[in-house]
Amino acid sequence: MTRNAIVREQVRAGVVECPLCKRQIAAPTDHLLVYGAVESLTAENADALECPACTGVTFIVDPPDPTDAPD
Ligand SMILES: [Zn+2]
Repeated sequence: MTRNAIVREQVRAGVVECPLCKRQIAAPTDHLLVYGAVESLTAENADALECPACTGVTFIVDPPDPTDAPD
């Protein structure tokens, strides 16, 4: 089962297309979600993004780090 996800780099860049409704999210940092307590919610620590158009929640994932691959 796959889940809706976008890479964090897109959130940092402010260019995010909702995988659910395919619409561009104009200001993704205004729609960040985090599970847990944080002092400030940023693109660096957000866990998910709620699409303002379809209200679907998309998870923010970090791409695998090639230097940390299991052998
Ligand atoms: Zn959407």
